Amino acid sequence: MLHVRAHDYPFLVNRWKRAAAAAGLKMREFAESGGYPIYFLESAPSAAEQPSLYISAGIHGDEAASTEGLIAWAEKSPRLLRKFRALIFPCLNPWGLVNNCRLDPSGRDLNRCYNNPRVPQIRAQVKVLGRSRFDLALQLHEDFDAHGVYIYEIAGKRPFWAGDLLKAGTRNLPPDSRTSIEGRAAKNGIVRRKITPDLMPNWPEAFLIHFRHAARTFTIETPSEFAIDARVATQEAILTAALNKCLAESR
Ligand SMILES: [Zn+2]
Repeated sequence: MLHVRAHDYPFLVNRWKRAAAAAGLKMREFAESGGYPIYFLESAPSAAEQPSLYISAGIHGDEAASTEGLIAWAEKSPRLLRKFRALIFPCLNPWGLVNNCRLDPSGRDLNRCYNNPRVPQIRAQVKVLGRSRFDLALQLHEDFDAHGVYIYEIAGKRPFWAGDLLKAGTRNLPPDSRTSIEGRAAKNGIVRRKITPDLMPNWPEAFLIHFRHAARTFTIETPSEFAIDARVATQEAILTAALNKCLAESR
């Protein structure tokens, strides 16, 4: 059986150390939470002129196919990763991952804290981000209510990509058929909308990333009640499709 250690954080960190070396990424600790170090990975300065990429996973600890899908993909994709200037946060809530909990050890939903400078790890992440701009940003999530895979696409840069990303992601899982997801209109697994800073009082990560760092911002959601192997394969397929689209656009 694959992915049986998806909540084992030290194991995940060791896998990332190997994957980082293969993909030419430097791995650095930038914060801690609940006694666990939190890391980011970044490309060498020589990658500065390449298309730029932001990926994060595991901000909700009970969404194991986000962290597992990202590492499984990175282990298979060092050559693709080397074509980007990448900044990757492979697991933003390690305590949550170990305890299979959405929240952080202080009971916060970190994905509603991105305009809250009182949260130390958010402050530290904002500092790492600095003034970076990215051609593509992906936040990897899962959803217990989902009927299939779906994607939030912030309506920024055209042409829109969510349709193509979803096509890649629905080889292993169906698209979510709901017409309303978290109170927002959805169509064939796509929730597309414009956002403004006052749309939500407590910002999710996607808001900060879109406003300051990336016109193209996607949140990928796989359905938590489906088999983990299919969820991981779906996250991997969407990552590959998104990076290939980004390369094609930058040519
Ligand atoms: Zn989530």
